[in-house]
Amino acid sequence: MPKITAIRCIRTRANGTWTIVKVLTDQPGLYGIGSASDHYHTPSVIAMVEQSLTPLLIGRDASQIEDTWQSTLTSGYWRNDSILNTALAAIDVALWDIKGKEAGLPVYQLLGGACRSAVPCYAHAVGNTLDELVEDIRRYHEEGWPVIRCQLGPYGGGGFVDIAKARRPANAWPQERIFDDEAYLENIPRMFAYLREKLGFEVKLTHDVHEHLHPHNAVTLAKLLEPYRLFFLEDALPPEQIAYFRLMRQQCTTPQAMGELFINPHEWLPLIQERLIDYVRCRVSKVGGITAAQKIAHLCEWYGVHTAWQEGGDNDPVNLTAAMHVDLKSWNFGIQEENHFRPEELEVFPNCPKLERGYLYPNDLPGLGIDVDEAKAAALLDPEKAHRFFSMAEDRRADGTVVRP
Ligand SMILES: [Mg+2]
Repeated sequence: MPKITAIRCIRTRANGTWTIVKVLTDQPGLYGIGSASDHYHTPSVIAMVEQSLTPLLIGRDASQIEDTWQSTLTSGYWRNDSILNTALAAIDVALWDIKGKEAGLPVYQLLGGACRSAVPCYAHAVGNTLDELVEDIRRYHEEGWPVIRCQLGPYGGGGFVDIAKARRPANAWPQERIFDDEAYLENIPRMFAYLREKLGFEVKLTHDVHEHLHPHNAVTLAKLLEPYRLFFLEDALPPEQIAYFRLMRQQCTTPQAMGELFINPHEWLPLIQERLIDYVRCRVSKVGGITAAQKIAHLCEWYGVHTAWQEGGDNDPVNLTAAMHVDLKSWNFGIQEENHFRPEELEVFPNCPKLERGYLYPNDLPGLGIDVDEAKAAALLDPEKAHRFFSMAEDRRADGTVVRP
């Protein structure tokens, strides 16, 4: 059995926010890769991999994935935090990659084999006006995308009010824009009324609230959107307020998708067991990798909940590939969030699965089927950008209160 001999972190993307972990073994040429990307805490995840997990794992049997997962989870006594989960996920996915290469099989074959020929994905349509949005949805629909997410501008779009007209305090803090729940409750149902009038009900549409609303208003929004028959409403509530999903269920049939900020089983367990959501949307690398995602998917199957693993702008191709392998083998898979990469980014990742006309296609290579070219990864880094610190944009209400994303 192969033994782990070294673990390396490879930073890439121009801004340095992608971290690919490479696990090397004592067998010539046998290694695996996983994603440890965290857009906001890159140095912390790298320190966790290099300073805490590498000394723990050197010399271990690379084939014992479950044992490594369990012992790494509890290696620092406290567990289920965002940084540890991400580092653990990278190791876990790399070990699945190694096991597939040893077996000469793609990872989805090891997980149980495919139950679909390709993975349907949802596109991200956006417009600053309703007509721009309609045009963008039509473009994706004509390309063949099976499901399309609809947003009015950036995170919270539809809820921003004119700063000159807002009722602000006399000593207002400087801020560029103001988020207002009532504006959102007015504009988003109006947006869907317009979309259904222009596009009909054939197009499958979703919307992402990005957790911006007060919980009672999230319940109201779900109810107001019921007539427009969404494919799902995404992240209507922040993780702290998931108990409100019970009230939402009592009020309406709008399908609920939740979980992109989840890191702890206590967050997803009640929602699955009480059938309060319809799609679980964790990020594979934030819950602990393929091993953890597979367990979540299996649990969901018995409760009629589907999977819709999170992707989006800051994820790297290795995380998307890990999600794709779980998607292919999960009977209760629902939909996969898309991710678009620049051509120069894709060059860093030989054999990245192809995303064409709304479907993600696996290749037949053993393991994950994707690799990282370390020289190109290093060349893609922009030294100036890669030293910047990134933090989540702060949306605030009229009185200056921060809106939790
Ligand atoms: Mg989202």
